Amino acid sequence: MSYFRPAIDAMTGYVPGEQPKSGIKVIKLNTNENPYPPSPKAIAALQTIDSDSLRRYPDPFAHEFCQAVSEAIGVPKDWVIVGNGSDDVLNILIRACAEGRDRKVVYPMPTYVLYRTLAAMQPSETVEVPYGENFELPIEQLVAANGAVTFIASPNSPSGHSVSLEDLRKLAQQVSGIVAIDEAYVDFAEYSALPLVQEFDNVIVLRTLSKGYSLAGLRLGFGIANPKLLSGLFKVKDSYNIDAVAIAVGTAAMRDQEYKNANANKVKTSRSRLIHDLKNIGYTVPRSYGNFVLATPPKGNAEEIYLKLKESGILVRYFNQAGLADKLRITVGTDEQNQALYDQLTLIG
Ligand code: PMP
Repeated sequence: MSYFRPAIDAMTGYVPGEQPKSGIKVIKLNTNENPYPPSPKAIAALQTIDSDSLRRYPDPFAHEFCQAVSEAIGVPKDWVIVGNGSDDVLNILIRACAEGRDRKVVYPMPTYVLYRTLAAMQPSETVEVPYGENFELPIEQLVAANGAVTFIASPNSPSGHSVSLEDLRKLAQQVSGIVAIDEAYVDFAEYSALPLVQEFDNVIVLRTLSKGYSLAGLRLGFGIANPKLLSGLFKVKDSYNIDAVAIAVGTAAMRDQEYKNANANKVKTSRSRLIHDLKNIGYTVPRSYGNFVLATPPKGNAEEIYLKLKESGILVRYFNQAGLADKLRITVGTDEQNQALYDQLTLIG
């Protein structure tokens, strides 16, 4: 007999991008981290962590952080739920809403693989609907799949495209379940779907401090939806899912929008340059609204290039699956890192 539930025996665990071996200096362009440091105000907030704030349990609702979110993005404070990274909010959503065959998890493909992993753990059936040729949202099929939760990452990873507000609105109007719009990369995008949470009581927008705010190591994300939708999620959330350090540092980072926006602008400028350079050496690279680009090499040898880059100390992500044949997803680094990548790609040929 297995120690585990059948669903766990049957599933494949999520495999995050590889970490460099300790002591080895690499250029890490494989997990869409921000190449710039977090706000100095966030670092200063670390110094405010005293013995008492460690001795006590943290505020389970992170009121201070929610207040900062409210001021930064103009939503009421009680429309915010916090998570240990936005992955935690995804997990909460699936645990609260999905189950077996009757309460499915639905999403267009290709997208963030964690949706599949979390559904398999529940377990809940999934319906994976392929995107159209130019990443058109397959609204009809998504609606027909009748999900308890339909996940749309916008900007999407690894494609980098954004889904139009009009399409998201049509989806929200037509589905009976929740539409979760995963905006992990919104800080590098041209618009947000946030207005839809006011229009629809079945829409939740998910955000993270891992990308735009350079705080992937802190593990802090949040969801925004009307309190009626959040009420079910609060029942499922671990009481103390974000710690006192995350609340203090995250609040300071959220209050420093200017710093975050300046870094996001630097990343966007470097992204344009990187796309231009890659195209110059024959790569196919579509427009991206995230802090990464999806590149197809001219000679159909993405795996070989990935391995050679790795040997030279540059980590990128290799994809080869339906809708993502022979691709490299490359996080936008500093201009110096992008140049090192470009030089290496030119050498590899
Ligand atoms: N959503 C998408 C689309 C992502 O790519 C990521 C990062 N891997 C996340 C959510 C999770 O971000 P975090 O848990 O660090 O907030």
